[in-house]
Amino acid sequence: MTEQLQIPGLPLETELPAQVGVLVLGAGLAGCAALLAAAEAGRYAVLIEKTGSIGGSTVRSAGLSAFAGTDEQAAQGIADSVELLRKDLLEVGRHRNDEALVDLYCARQLETYRWLREHGVEYGEIHAASGQSAPRSHPSDTTGMLVHLLKAAGRLGARLVLDAPAHRLVHDGTRVTGVDVRRRDGSLHRIAADAVVLATGGFSMNPDLLARFAPQMEHALRQGGAGNTGDGLMMAMALGAGLRDTPYIKGTYGHFHTEHPDEDGTGILAVYKGAIAVNREGRRFVDESRNYKEIGDAALAQPGVTTWQVFDSRTMSLSNDEVPIYEFAGRRRAGMLLEADTIAGLERQVGLPDGALQRTVTDYNDAIREGRPDPLGRAHLSGGVGEPFAIEQPPFFAHPSGTVVLATYCGLTVDTRLRVLDWWGEPIERLYAAGELVGGLHGAGYMTGTSIGKAGIFGRLAGTHAADEESELEW
Ligand SMILES: Cc1cc2nc3c(=O)[nH]c(=O)nc-3n(C[C@H](O)[C@H](O)[C@H](O)COP(=O)(O)OP(=O)(O)OC[C@H]3O[C@@H](n4cnc5c(N)ncnc54)[C@H](O)[C@@H]3O)c2cc1C
Repeated sequence: MTEQLQIPGLPLETELPAQVGVLVLGAGLAGCAALLAAAEAGRYAVLIEKTGSIGGSTVRSAGLSAFAGTDEQAAQGIADSVELLRKDLLEVGRHRNDEALVDLYCARQLETYRWLREHGVEYGEIHAASGQSAPRSHPSDTTGMLVHLLKAAGRLGARLVLDAPAHRLVHDGTRVTGVDVRRRDGSLHRIAADAVVLATGGFSMNPDLLARFAPQMEHALRQGGAGNTGDGLMMAMALGAGLRDTPYIKGTYGHFHTEHPDEDGTGILAVYKGAIAVNREGRRFVDESRNYKEIGDAALAQPGVTTWQVFDSRTMSLSNDEVPIYEFAGRRRAGMLLEADTIAGLERQVGLPDGALQRTVTDYNDAIREGRPDPLGRAHLSGGVGEPFAIEQPPFFAHPSGTVVLATYCGLTVDTRLRVLDWWGEPIERLYAAGELVGGLHGAGYMTGTSIGKAGIFGRLAGTHAADEESELEW
């Protein structure tokens, strides 16, 4: 272990075990949830993590989970239901989703939310975001979430080993029997296991895999856990695992890569609170209420790729520092926004052609005031929520915004027990998968909060089912 975690109480181990009941690969939310669930089921469970710290993309995320029917929603008077969640998931995914996985998510989300809360996870104020016809983005501190799960697993005897990259799955001709771990000195260490759970995340940080599966993302930025290079995906593909949703890898709108110390990689989505998005010609190019993945695609097609979210002080007043994508005031304080008292001044600051932004804002405001339909089809602020308003209250702001691949969404085919399936739909015995490397849930589009949601719900289920496998090891 190269980097000691300064968090007391984690069940850290430096030595790799020779054999375990359930071996989990990857210490993001899916892996931590699987570890705890397997330990709760009474198995000796060990989690090995490639890097020197826990968290992967989970701890870099905006921390929003999509749940429906929660206490927090009820407290805010939000009407939502499992049926509505299901409908939204299928509509956003353009019905290309694996319906069995959508049903699984819907059926098990509320109990997983309660399980997470019982283990100490807390959620803040609920917001609407992309693809949600009712506000259901539940913000939480993801590092705290993982620490809660790991500590609970540790109390049940589970262990975590850092700096332990899984190299290959071991298969005896009928089933997966363990994993080879490549140590820092290059040597291999074999761990025998009754079942293996792949929770190694996606491949947003692997330019080669992205080039193969998503060449349209060539000019997109990349963000994610340093270890998220598709290792689990490749290990399972080597055993014949099938794939789903690879054509639908999308980038997220709103991010701008800077070396600014306050840049956390999440970007902002002022468009969902009243901003318009304009290109370097100062023109709007998209219905800003659409899914941020679709806005991301539209932005990649603009000249020069970089675009700007333009908004006024009314949108600024809707800033919420608890939710990174709505943390406008924090970005202002950090000097990450361009700011002017007039639209003409803002236009000059951004460097847009003379008069272009002024014309765009005037046209946008006039259409709203006169009740004319928006030429790009915008009828709401975000999805089906919120009424657009004129951009008229100074000061005015602009946030440079590009498209970033935060997650890859597609991945391994699994059944509803989270068993990895081969190309013919047969389970690869004793191999489970959960989290970002699982394909099929999202289909052709993405609803905010369903990646973290998927990692928690499917991670927990994968751990539980993996723990059901009979032991053939000698203990
Ligand atoms: C900036 C950003 C913002 C986001 N915001 C949201 C959001 O608000 N809501 C939402 O739903 N989703 C969001 N996402 C996506 C979401 O964070 C991820 O999809 C989710 O956290 C994935 O969880 P996971 O457990 O599957 O993978 P990860 O959390 O990425 O964990 C995978 C772990 O596996 C490890 N690993 C990789 N290879 C190996 C190996 N060979 N051996 C052992 N370990 C290995 C990695 O190092 C990593 O620690 C965001 C992502 C980013 C980058």
